[in-house]
Amino acid sequence: MRRCLIAALFVATPLAVALGAAQARAARPAAAPAGIELASLDRGADPCVDFYRFACGGWIDAHPLPADRRNYARTNEIRDRNDVVLRRILERPGAIGDLRKASDYYAACMNTDAINAKGLAPLRPELDRIAAMSDIRALPEIIARLHMSAASNPASGISASSTFPFFQMVARSDPAQASLQMAWARPQGIGLPDRDYYTKTDDRSVTLRSEYRAHVSKMLALAGAPPVRAESAAGAILRIETALAEARLDATAVRDPRATIHVVSVADLQALTPSFDWKRYIAARQAPAFERVNNSQPKVMEAFERILADTPVDDIRQYLRWHLVHSAVTMLPRAFGDADFEFFGRVLLGQRDQQPRWRLCLSQTDEYLGDTLGRGFVEETFRSEAMTDTAAMIGYLKAALRHDIETATWMSEATRRAALDKLAALQERIGHPDKWRDVSALRISRTDAFGNLQRVRTAENARDVSQIGLRADPAAWPITPQTANSGYSASQNMILFPAGILQPPIYDAARDGAVNYGAAASLIGHELTHGFDDTGRRFDAKGNVRDWWTPADAKAFEERTACIVDEYSQFVVAGDTRINGKLTLGENIADNGGLRLALMAYLAGPGAVAPPPLDGFAADQRVFLGYAQSWCQTTTAESERENAVTNSHAANRYRVNGVVSNMPEFQKAFACRADAPMVRANACRVW
Ligand SMILES: [Zn+2]
Repeated sequence: MRRCLIAALFVATPLAVALGAAQARAARPAAAPAGIELASLDRGADPCVDFYRFACGGWIDAHPLPADRRNYARTNEIRDRNDVVLRRILERPGAIGDLRKASDYYAACMNTDAINAKGLAPLRPELDRIAAMSDIRALPEIIARLHMSAASNPASGISASSTFPFFQMVARSDPAQASLQMAWARPQGIGLPDRDYYTKTDDRSVTLRSEYRAHVSKMLALAGAPPVRAESAAGAILRIETALAEARLDATAVRDPRATIHVVSVADLQALTPSFDWKRYIAARQAPAFERVNNSQPKVMEAFERILADTPVDDIRQYLRWHLVHSAVTMLPRAFGDADFEFFGRVLLGQRDQQPRWRLCLSQTDEYLGDTLGRGFVEETFRSEAMTDTAAMIGYLKAALRHDIETATWMSEATRRAALDKLAALQERIGHPDKWRDVSALRISRTDAFGNLQRVRTAENARDVSQIGLRADPAAWPITPQTANSGYSASQNMILFPAGILQPPIYDAARDGAVNYGAAASLIGHELTHGFDDTGRRFDAKGNVRDWWTPADAKAFEERTACIVDEYSQFVVAGDTRINGKLTLGENIADNGGLRLALMAYLAGPGAVAPPPLDGFAADQRVFLGYAQSWCQTTTAESERENAVTNSHAANRYRVNGVVSNMPEFQKAFACRADAPMVRANACRVW
């Protein structure tokens, strides 16, 4: 089921759909289509020794990392172009309606003179509320209020860093009945990116923790604490966060959805945490009444109870202050943002300079008022060819995966049937939603940056909680159309390709079809494969967590995935840090399946009649090069190390070399010797 207004307005010719984009274009009398990026190659490198370097060496040499980035990849190029469009929309005078709200939000954020002049005044009522807490019995209302304006993605942009004290309550799919949404209590409350940052004892980790402690202390001092008090408070905060972190499952363990399903009654949750009154918390969040809750990590709730029972109330106040200040850094005087960047940007991730203010304000406007920008973005950038080409590619990719499942020798008929049912039930979203989020009730002021931030987050957190007990909206898009990313939702069994990612170098209507299959179709194959990776396979056709595998098939699957775990566990980043083969397993399965399916789809579809060489490369070589060139990247060592702990994706060079070295098709296309580095003796294959 595709949802796209533009498809209805611009109907593609049946021929273009039937043949796929590449052949339809080949029939055009115009000049030959663009192929791979010749300037991005490093012809001095041997593709059989280091294919990533061969495909990307020229690009890498021409793109030294900008001082205000920790990472720069092809999706950053797309994002930067998308940002220019969004900024133009925001800065255009005369905006009305919802767009006016977005442009006022952006303008207030940009007015740093006004933000500096207000000093701590906007924060004062919140700080006073915390200061007035004489006893932890007042916590439910205070935490509820902080949760209303917290974000799991604060300014520092550390994906796993959060500003929700202790936990977060959200509406998410009922694991047993995915079409319904239920309350989830999820662990939060740590400022460093993940559990490992609190538990590891190597020199680098110990130093980082002491720098974090100094940062927390500095922020408390900026918020008005006497320096000596701020220092001891930071120690107490680190003890609370460490207790929460130690109780957490690590990033690998949560890949199995069954590890985070513990549906209990609200009364049971209450019994687990007698020091915290859940009824009052739920009432203060203005959540709809509910009886059942998924207490996703009970050990963290046990730690929460121990902290409440054992910690002096003043330490809890300091902990709440830290999370309050951390959540609001972007709309506080400059010293807060500078300190936040110093630790989270420079120390943790190796970024040298801050991004220009407009990028921060744009990304925040986009995060909270994204749909108002999305409409304009789609009008300016999205063309009907992107819709029809993507739909055609999805058709070929699904056929390739169907064939792959039908012919998998290791699968029994019962599991095969369930897998085919799941593939048949898959939903697709291309381009943009046909329903936009209504923000008419939001109050946005052109002169109140701090208040705006509180209000947009409060609206977002309230909207989320209001969904508890409701049916999931089948038309909802979890991301905005200008997002330069794609996705698979396991609980909705849905792949999603927004307008923002259907841009060069991922997709280009005017480009050689083989290159589009390498870059864009491999991404479609990647998302399709997620439905059948180590996590996705735990969900059935309806998105329910249910085991549809026979024990023998599950064992055969795990034998195949063990090969991928071993392969990627050998890869090293930043000269000293191994990739976690288990954490990245799902993405690696998806990368391997994605490119294999894209090549199969290309050869069975638009490439069935061998297209002529282009720029000296055969069609199958162009598929591989199109793939590799979509992953060129420059990055800091610090960022690579952080990613190795928290990111479920491997470093980009391994997303290329790790995949092609498993493919006999690659060896053949580039005539590599059997003992070449890009030819694995023990090639892995899941899909
Ligand atoms: Zn993925």
